[in-house]
Amino acid sequence: MSVVGIDFGNLQSVIAVARNRGIDVICNEVSNRFTPSLVSFGPKQRYLGETAKTQEISNFKNTISSLKRIVGRTFADKEIQEIEKQYLTAPLIDVNGQLSVKVNYQGQETTFTTVQVFAMYLTKMREIAASETKAPVSDCVIAIPTWFTDVQRRAVLDAAEIAGLNVLRLINDSTAVALGYGITKTDLPEEKPRNICFVDIGHSSYTVSIVSYIKGQLTVKSRAFDKHFGGRDFDRMLVDHFAAEFKTKYGIDVKSNGKALIRLMAGCEKLKKILSANSQAPLNIESIMEDRDVASTMKRTEFEELAQDLIGRVEAPLKQALEDAGMTIADIDAVEMVGGSIRIPALKERIQAYFGKELSSTLNQDEAVARGAALQCAILSPSFKVREFAVHDITDYPVKMTWQPTPEEEETELVVFNKNNSIPSTKILTFYRSEPFDLEAQYAEPESIPAGINPWIARFSIKNVAPVNGEPACIKVKARINIHGVLSVESAYVVEEVVKEEPIESSKEGADAASAEGAEGNEDAATAATSQTRKTKKLVKKGDLPVVSATSSLDRSVVAELKEKENEMVASDKLVVDTEMAKNMLEEYIYDTRSKVDGIYKEFVIPADKEKFVQDLNNAENWLYDEGDETTKSVYAAKLAELHVVGKPVVERYREVEARADAARELRESI
Ligand code: ATP
Ligand code: MG
Repeated sequence: MSVVGIDFGNLQSVIAVARNRGIDVICNEVSNRFTPSLVSFGPKQRYLGETAKTQEISNFKNTISSLKRIVGRTFADKEIQEIEKQYLTAPLIDVNGQLSVKVNYQGQETTFTTVQVFAMYLTKMREIAASETKAPVSDCVIAIPTWFTDVQRRAVLDAAEIAGLNVLRLINDSTAVALGYGITKTDLPEEKPRNICFVDIGHSSYTVSIVSYIKGQLTVKSRAFDKHFGGRDFDRMLVDHFAAEFKTKYGIDVKSNGKALIRLMAGCEKLKKILSANSQAPLNIESIMEDRDVASTMKRTEFEELAQDLIGRVEAPLKQALEDAGMTIADIDAVEMVGGSIRIPALKERIQAYFGKELSSTLNQDEAVARGAALQCAILSPSFKVREFAVHDITDYPVKMTWQPTPEEEETELVVFNKNNSIPSTKILTFYRSEPFDLEAQYAEPESIPAGINPWIARFSIKNVAPVNGEPACIKVKARINIHGVLSVESAYVVEEVVKEEPIESSKEGADAASAEGAEGNEDAATAATSQTRKTKKLVKKGDLPVVSATSSLDRSVVAELKEKENEMVASDKLVVDTEMAKNMLEEYIYDTRSKVDGIYKEFVIPADKEKFVQDLNNAENWLYDEGDETTKSVYAAKLAELHVVGKPVVERYREVEARADAARELRESI
């Protein structure tokens, strides 16, 4: 069983596996270490990852990007409507409030929820990992943005389950980086912690985290982010610039044409990358629309001027993170940079100027998240032994619980988990109730979560509550933010105060206790105490109460149904590939055999069969281009079997003679 870490990136994802000798990033089917985070639908099959990328432009209406930005969101969500929509090329629709995509799949208009689409992508991740490691893949750790809320985290967990993955932990991406950094350091201090500031600027978001290390453990001190700051913002800025330029220069409106816009976006990304290493870069796109070629250039200075506002945004999260950690720049021992966009020189310079010190890049900036996730998976997996390294992560948003007031109790809410509360974490709440009651969990600062996400998290109904001896029962409720950063109520139970009479033991403590209770003056307290008893009040658990949780997770039956659907689509994709292979095999056989019938097979074809055999091969070829162009795997296989009736004995006779000739040659050479 492989131990896998997945960095779920907005542009591309990276998979790493833990092996005995260390962590390896693995390659996909075209030997790339990154797999485009894209899902595409075609007339016969789905295209996942690389194959979706190859047809992103020709099939843009059926290609889904920005998977991490859309998973688990609602259609009406402000961020979806105002921001994400600009980056998506497939139509988004509302299915019972859930954000979904409408695509043409297998010739039919089909809708899929974002959770389903993400599950498809994870299926591909699983297949890539399984094919590389030649072992089944189930246990994994998936890295997600730290700013994901409960609903987004649950959506990822549901998608993973649909894809047949068992998530040992959803790890915050910056924490994965921090783990990868710390576990390899052999010189971590015993006492005074070493503080590292990690900066990750990717395609769509930017995260800063401050982490303290001492030997064998890391503690996340604070985290700040700009959820809408990354490479794609620079790309869009360039698109706006060049679209305006081409309007005046060529009289074309690139933004009115979906394909042209995608090509300009790709051209701008390329230009941006060139500008990271050069002072000037060209932009050339042939036949972008209306048969027009476009060309332009940009200087790095011009780029930096255009991006001035964007670059200026880099400071706020740095400041916030330091403030939340209660630290100053002087407390930071090193600043580690990861993420693709950190290659933009102006960004790096601005961060460097902020800290007033050299930045470090000791980590692989593109692979650090995946490597850290794989390490976490190895730590959690029972099938792997790794050096112990404790990870103390924190929450990003405060969570409160609310409830209906009772005559005895006016309070109706409590912040149960503060911002920067450590995770996982359990809190026990106490209530006095005579009847069943509900707790509503929600984010306490709705303005801090991604705009458009409902701050409501879950409702927990505590059932079977009844008075005890005519008084409200004392009920303990165990709330937990688990290892994934997901909130739940683990259990609820009644406690009763029981007065117990206990003998006071004749120990030192017994003596102390006795004297505390007023037995002073007795010279031999310990001896005297053996014959004494005392009354103590104890809270005793009196049985569990049922808790009904209403969360944003999908119903178990829905997950099972979607899993079945996903498996059907996997089987259907496989059948398409197998059918294509059967067709290719037949085609190859026809060409290969026909070219040999008058060549090396000449003496081995029975003359009476030859004319018919060649005719059969020709007929099969004609059939392939006609009605046989599109048929089933079994029909191709049957056709090949038909040709084999005459063809196979010919090949066998040929091989036999060849083998004999080889043996004779070997014998001659050995004498
Ligand atoms: P996110 O973490 O935001 O979900 P991601 O993990 O997919 O996204 P990365 O792979 O870290 O993102 O970075 C991709 C971004 O880095 C893209 O916007 C890409 O254009 C940008 N990038 C890559 N190389 C360079 C370069 N040489 N110069 C400038 N930008 C670059
Ligand atoms: Mg990333």
